[in-house]
Amino acid sequence: MLLSFLEVEQLSKHYSGQAQPALSNVSFTANQSEIIAILGESGAGKSTLLRLMAGLEIPDSGHVWLDGRPVPDPSQKLVPGDMRVALIQQDFGLFNTMNIADNIAYPIIGLPPAKQQARVKELLELVKLPGIEKKMPAQLSGGERQRVAIARAMAAKPRLLLMDEPFSQMDYPMRRNLRKDLKRIILHEQTTVVMVTHEPSHALAVADKLLVMRSGKILQMGTPEEVYRYPNTEYVAMATGEVNILPTAILPLALQASLDRPAAKVCLRPEDMTLVPEKEALLRGTILSSEFAGAYRLVTVLLPSAHEIKVLHTGKPPVSGFQTGVAVHRLHPLRS
Ligand code: ADP
Repeated sequence: MLLSFLEVEQLSKHYSGQAQPALSNVSFTANQSEIIAILGESGAGKSTLLRLMAGLEIPDSGHVWLDGRPVPDPSQKLVPGDMRVALIQQDFGLFNTMNIADNIAYPIIGLPPAKQQARVKELLELVKLPGIEKKMPAQLSGGERQRVAIARAMAAKPRLLLMDEPFSQMDYPMRRNLRKDLKRIILHEQTTVVMVTHEPSHALAVADKLLVMRSGKILQMGTPEEVYRYPNTEYVAMATGEVNILPTAILPLALQASLDRPAAKVCLRPEDMTLVPEKEALLRGTILSSEFAGAYRLVTVLLPSAHEIKVLHTGKPPVSGFQTGVAVHRLHPLRS
């Protein structure tokens, strides 16, 4: 059987004393140089999954296969972990008393000094921080420390890089740059990345494949676009961005008839609708408020059924209290 580069097979973990398992039968695969983002609220089991994938904990059942070989768990190895897997924790884990070069060279301490230096130089260029070998971690910004943490994690050429909330300590321009650079770095190093986050915008922008987790289970996986546009459930719809969930029965019959399968509830993203003159629309309502969001506004419209919906609007600010039509371009039936 041909295995994927990364195979996570039916991983389960139930900590003693806990009512619920932290992880239940989690399975997914990834190709080389892909970025997998795992999105889930606190307690979903994301960190447990990362620790199991890193070989730092013993699963109750299941396996992790990397490049055709299993990642050993601590019951199978004297020193927990696998040289082929690097894990970057939220605090980056840099050694404050070591300079940047020594931090980065830490995983390759056994190599001859000249080889270490060459690899440190190559990695600092790769993370766009050339020449900072002699600096100390305290002299760097949060974003620079994150890049050094990536350089150190990549030093021993891991096949799999695991990242816990990689963008949480960064502001927007820094995040955007790091996302772009991360893709370039892992293509160069041919490393697969699995990152966990609770923030949908981070996951959607960077991932080749997105997994939404809750209570230790994978609820849905697919490309970010598939999961965002075709969420199976209300929970996945809400976890992946701003959304309106409406009972199908309150919609005009012509809209109900446009669904490709029957469903009790539908989801409409704010960008699936536009404000139009009243007489041009099947759906009508009253403008309640309008929230400025830079490139667009989110306009809240009160429907006759008393449901409020948020509609993306790019024109002139609409006036509260006025009647409006809402043209619906797309609506998606939910399973539950
Ligand atoms: P997340 O990273 O998504 O916040 P975690 O993997 O940290 O989720 O936790 C999942 C569940 O497992 C939580 O209910 C948490 O309390 C429990 N848990 C995590 N680690 C341990 C542990 N070492 N011992 C006992 N329970 C744990």
